[in-house]
Amino acid sequence: MTKTADIGLIGLAVMGENLVLNMESKGYTVAVYNRTVEKVDNFINGRGAGKNFIGAHSIEELVASLERPRKVMMLVKAGQPVDDFIDQIISHLEPGDIIIDGGNSYFPDTIRRTQYVESKGLLYVGTGVSGGEIGALHGPSMMPGGSAQAWPFVKDIFQSIAAKVDNGVPCCDWVGSDGAGHFVKMVHNGIEYGDMQIIGEAYQVMKDLLGMSADEMHEVFTKWNTEELDSYLIEITAEIMAYKDEDGSPMIDKILDKAGQKGTGKWTGSAALELGVPLTLIGESVFARFLSAQKDMRVEASKLISGPKPEFSGDKQAMLNDLKMALYGAKIISYAQGYNLLMAAAKEYGWQLDYGGIALMWRGGCIIRSAFLGDIKKAFDTNPALAHLLLDNFFKQKVELAQDGWRRVCAAALLNGIPAPSLTSALCYLDGFRSAWLPANLLQAQRDYFGAHTYERIDKPRGQFFHTNWTGEG
Ligand code: NAP
Repeated sequence: MTKTADIGLIGLAVMGENLVLNMESKGYTVAVYNRTVEKVDNFINGRGAGKNFIGAHSIEELVASLERPRKVMMLVKAGQPVDDFIDQIISHLEPGDIIIDGGNSYFPDTIRRTQYVESKGLLYVGTGVSGGEIGALHGPSMMPGGSAQAWPFVKDIFQSIAAKVDNGVPCCDWVGSDGAGHFVKMVHNGIEYGDMQIIGEAYQVMKDLLGMSADEMHEVFTKWNTEELDSYLIEITAEIMAYKDEDGSPMIDKILDKAGQKGTGKWTGSAALELGVPLTLIGESVFARFLSAQKDMRVEASKLISGPKPEFSGDKQAMLNDLKMALYGAKIISYAQGYNLLMAAAKEYGWQLDYGGIALMWRGGCIIRSAFLGDIKKAFDTNPALAHLLLDNFFKQKVELAQDGWRRVCAAALLNGIPAPSLTSALCYLDGFRSAWLPANLLQAQRDYFGAHTYERIDKPRGQFFHTNWTGEG
């Protein structure tokens, strides 16, 4: 009898190869195909040798080797290649078969593709896969959404390859319809931008204000990784600080300060602007990468524009404690804002999101994994209808505790001319969020003055609008 595969995969690049090796290690037979077909043979004779793989040299061969309902997963470059492959596969499939996109697709594309594929009688899954190539091999965080009828058919494969936390709970569950999985993955990536930026700002304060060496910073990050900030990104930052180049000097000092990006942070910011959500920390983090990329102009400006020279004469250990609190407080804000965005999107797109479940999916396997996500899960377990993370008692108390040190760090950064856009804007957000009154009454007066946009009054019922003839003219 001819061997059949449990699932087929298109795209044998770094993510695809590692994900299928992960699937095979869990007992699944996987058929593999790649646009450049020689990569199929290279894989079958290389990393896949002696394992349960079926090498396909065409889409027809791939589809013919699959058990029904057929499951074809793409892990190819996001964008047009995904649409092209859908069109190529669709004619070879039958009603009930499932097309899965595991790439970093933009969620509106996934909404559109789900509708298109379903209109052909097939099912579609757009799943976020996080954790990079190592995660793909050993257990990623997976965030699937799309056609709900597809979930029972892919659940076992997905949950068996996903990372596990708390004695075997998989970091993968059904997220919601059409683009919900890719939206949650996009917000995950935005939060990743934010976490990385605030760690970078703490690094600059340690380096420029406290004059610390990479080895000293290694010690601090290593310690922080055993406390509130316990997370993958703090852990790898500690390791990066300790890493030496061939000449024995810290590798970090040799790396050009120009950050790249693939656009998922920008998408998160755009979604927040579209949905009217104040996502300031992630927004600042994306802009900070843009500013870093203007390296040549910054170098020129550094010679022309003077500012304070960083100087520190206080208690270094106390400042480091403050810095930890600043990171912790800003991190709470970042997740609170990210969840605010998820909630707004759920309302807009009609998704039933399980917010505690999302924290659990991010708890292991992915780049933003941290102990902190367990606290978010608890907050939503305590109150599934929680409207904002800062209204949860645990997080409310934590920001109250963090804010004194956090304020000292922001003040020191501003006074010493050290840019800390994400740490400072997060604190401004906190102050705005806890303000019963904001100066938007003046904005309304200005809008009414120049454009007759009207305003509501505090002494009249909401919903009644007034206009003043501010100049007395006309
Ligand atoms: P990638 O470099 O994004 O894409 C390479 C794969 O896409 C190859 O199979 C390539 O085929 C195919 N491809 C590229 N352009 C194509 C086109 N015009 N038509 C058809 N096929 C095309 O690979 P990756 O880094 O493994 O990532 C795969 C997906 O996972 C992407 O969406 C990525 O954003 C996402 N992702 C990546 C990571 C990561 O850490 N790398 C993490 C999470 C998610 P050929 O071999 O023929 O060129």
